[in-house]
Amino acid sequence: MRYRFLRFPGGKSKAVTFSYDDGCRDDIRLAETMARYGLKGTFNLNGAQLGKDGTDWRLTPGEIRRVILEKGFEIANHGADHRANGLLRPIEGIREVLDCRLELEKAFGRIVRGMAYPDSGINFFQNGASRESVKRYLEDLDIVYARTTVSDPSFRLPEDWLAWNPSCHHSDPDALKCVDAFLAVDPEKAYVASRYPRLFMLWGHSFEFERAGNWALLEEICERLSAEDGIWHATNMEIYTYVRAYGSLIFSADHLTVHNPTLLKIWFDADGALYAVEPGGTVRLPG
Ligand SMILES: [Zn+2]
Repeated sequence: MRYRFLRFPGGKSKAVTFSYDDGCRDDIRLAETMARYGLKGTFNLNGAQLGKDGTDWRLTPGEIRRVILEKGFEIANHGADHRANGLLRPIEGIREVLDCRLELEKAFGRIVRGMAYPDSGINFFQNGASRESVKRYLEDLDIVYARTTVSDPSFRLPEDWLAWNPSCHHSDPDALKCVDAFLAVDPEKAYVASRYPRLFMLWGHSFEFERAGNWALLEEICERLSAEDGIWHATNMEIYTYVRAYGSLIFSADHLTVHNPTLLKIWFDADGALYAVEPGGTVRLPG
């Protein structure tokens, strides 16, 4: 075997996920639209702001349950009070993340280990914050992934899950081009060393569609992404969990026997052939 590459559930070589911030009321229309097209994603919420607003701007906890959680979407941390980790002393950053986790987990009765950085996130640093210290305390706080605001249209899986760069923001001038470039890639037909999986992550805020009067853009993006077979639609955490499970596969020294110690069925491509290993199962590859 020359190369082995991850395949998503069902043997698919591409995955799509959305990441939308701030928990505003336009998330209702966003979530309904995504659900209509079979798309999945994650809504990033500010724990200290839950049910506080008293205005029409923010989703209530009941709406979050109904519109997001019961529809199979994920909720994730976005700072208790929406403060950028790169701008805070580490002790303040720690409190922002921990308070957010505690509030969301208490309000919704589930474990919330995902995150999207608020404001400028880790784009730059002051007050003693650094990329290393933020990463260290996020690990200590059991945050397993954190999305940045930096567009990276490489469509590769994140190398650092605590600096998970999205592919594009929906209002980037070339957002539709980015979608089309992702759709045009076919890892199955690629050269043997380029058959690695591709991941598209779109991010933004749903109120931007309302403000710009361009909900049609969302429909267009959803329509294009849902029209193609061979794409796994998943929340941010589903992608993280699956990729970590793939990384848990155990191989013999000659790489021909593989054991899956996880609870997920794991798929991979080895030099153009597709394999799947059942949970707890062992597969022998041809020599
Ligand atoms: Zn935000």
